[in-house]
Amino acid sequence: MSDYIKPFPNIENPIDGHIHMHRWYDEENEIDFSHGLEEYRCECGLKYIALAPLPSGNAIPVSRDVSNNIICAFYKLMNKDTFSYGGYIYPSYPAKKEEMAGMELSVQHRELMEIGFDGIKMLEGKPNLYTLVGSPLDGELFDGVFDEMEKAGTYVLMHARDPECFWTEPTEERIAKKWFYGNGEYPTYNEMFDQIENVLKKHPKLNLCLAHFFFLGEYPEKLEALFEKYPNLTVDNTPGGEMYISFNKRPEYYRAFFEKYADRVIFGTDMDFPVHLEAGKWLCDRQYRYFATDETLMSFDDHKITGIKLPSECLQKIFSSNLLSKLGGAPKEINKAALARYIEKYKHLIRDEKLYALIEKLSKELL
Ligand SMILES: [Zn+2]
Repeated sequence: MSDYIKPFPNIENPIDGHIHMHRWYDEENEIDFSHGLEEYRCECGLKYIALAPLPSGNAIPVSRDVSNNIICAFYKLMNKDTFSYGGYIYPSYPAKKEEMAGMELSVQHRELMEIGFDGIKMLEGKPNLYTLVGSPLDGELFDGVFDEMEKAGTYVLMHARDPECFWTEPTEERIAKKWFYGNGEYPTYNEMFDQIENVLKKHPKLNLCLAHFFFLGEYPEKLEALFEKYPNLTVDNTPGGEMYISFNKRPEYYRAFFEKYADRVIFGTDMDFPVHLEAGKWLCDRQYRYFATDETLMSFDDHKITGIKLPSECLQKIFSSNLLSKLGGAPKEINKAALARYIEKYKHLIRDEKLYALIEKLSKELL
């Protein structure tokens, strides 16, 4: 890893649009989350980062509950170059509309926007969370909120599906993580495509970004067809390395694709806190070099990948201006009173006692 260049030369205001805060405390370095991504942002030459909280599901670590929205809001409050999306929470699984009185998804959308979140992150299309929530993406549970988000122009970063091989190749790791979906308990790869297409049919102006290229690296023609129909639809180029391997198989096609659709592609790394700085630098470097140079480098999943060297105006769009214009140009201010109300309303759902105490402390100090 000695061959770094400083990522993002010649890009104005680069932004990493897809970052997580998986934990609130870094045990190894004994620091809490407060400024935990600043070193990554600065070392990689990023002007902005955008946090994507994951507050739903029953996953470990237990900080993946409503607290994940709250610490991302605090992070935004304490670090001015940070955008954050907010995520939806569910009082129980499977989610039932009648159990969500007072916290319907539309209500949550309004609360999150009032706090000053810059968009919405939905992991509800990742098959394991999808089956837990128990509702199709084009079903009744989500209809109202998609309608509202479409009308409000809210930017929605959604993880829908996973790589196709998660349905066909049951590796030990995939089975252990419940990331193998070919056992009949999950909708198929193509059924989930159809659900997203239905969402777009019903909400054609939805400001939707499908994470990880919508896992269409082998089928980009399907993505082209969606792009042609839905003018606000975007994808992010956040790895899954498998998609870069797919891109690399068809260099001429993909150079033309990314040039034509340069206003539909948004840069992201999937970095998280606690930070693995070397991994973050490597991701920024390899993704930038794929799009900006014609170098052949060892890259994702130990594949040699050759860059497509897009024109600089395309790079500026992908690494900065597409997302910045969708998010209004600068991070929204946190509305402290609205955040305090949100914490009061939902803090009983925080599962980790220490994190609960920290949130109480920060509320007193900062709100
Ligand atoms: Zn992610």
